[in-house]
Amino acid sequence: MEIRKVGVIGAGTMGNGIAHVFAKSGYEVVLVETQQAALDRGLQTIRSNMEREVAKNKLTAQDRDAALKRIRGGLERKALAECDFVVEAAFEKFEIKQEIFRDLDRLCRPEVILSSNTSSISITKIAAQTKRPGQVIGMHFFNPVPVMKLVEVIRGIATTDETYNRTRDLALKLEKTPVEVNDAPGFVSNRVLMPLINEAIYAVMEGVATAQAVDEVFKLGMAHPMGPLTLADFIGLDVCLDIMRVLHSGLGDPKYRPCPLLIKMVDAGWLGRKTGRGFYQY
Ligand code: NAD
Repeated sequence: MEIRKVGVIGAGTMGNGIAHVFAKSGYEVVLVETQQAALDRGLQTIRSNMEREVAKNKLTAQDRDAALKRIRGGLERKALAECDFVVEAAFEKFEIKQEIFRDLDRLCRPEVILSSNTSSISITKIAAQTKRPGQVIGMHFFNPVPVMKLVEVIRGIATTDETYNRTRDLALKLEKTPVEVNDAPGFVSNRVLMPLINEAIYAVMEGVATAQAVDEVFKLGMAHPMGPLTLADFIGLDVCLDIMRVLHSGLGDPKYRPCPLLIKMVDAGWLGRKTGRGFYQY
């Protein structure tokens, strides 16, 4: 079966970027949300991001129009029944993904691969919600999706070689670079990145240095394009906390306990860029 039509669940930060890259690469996209306002925001973001690519001569106006025409947004999940591949990018909560994958398993043709863009939740556990665990896989894009080249392709315990190969080939068609990873809490990216961010927050909490100073050390000393606290604000402090909790419970080692300052900031609603305040003001 040739993959032509791709379903994307969630039009937030990641979902709209994923819909963007599939549409730009010639795929028909069905983008499904639960709320009209979130869908409208996602579609508007796609339009303005494509506009920026046109302004930078990375996309012609004609190709932008064709790509936008390939995206169909809606609130009805049953529209996904006609898709040949699905990427889920809803909230990072297992209960939400559980409900979605059970429903997708019922809705989609048996040969369709169901993938999740989860940052940290077990692909094996998501796959077990379906009757097709061999065709469930992690397709982990990075933010901002239209710019970042990496796709972590995560094999659950039951993921078949065919599912892996087809997902890898699809990532290549999007002009991304797939990297094969086995299922474990946080995979590779967040298993290594989140403890770094968490430790940077401990350094601020303990008064070792200011957020600015921590970030300067990483930019100038380690050649990181942005420091860990700027990056945490960009990712969203709530997302960082969710991932630390997955690492902590999944690996059981106290070294993964979320920093109390991170918890406090999330409680305060200081979630980073998206709320205008995190370690920095926006
Ligand atoms: P987000 O909060 O920006 O967007 C999530 C969207 O999903 C929201 O618009 C919400 O309305 C929608 N949604 C929630 N439940 C839904 C449902 N049942 N059906 C359809 N839509 C639903 O979140 P995000 O940052 O885009 O993250 C999405 C997923 O991608 C998460 O699993 C996250 O861990 C992962 N991820 C995030 C990043 C990042 O940097 N933000 C990077 C890689 C992976």
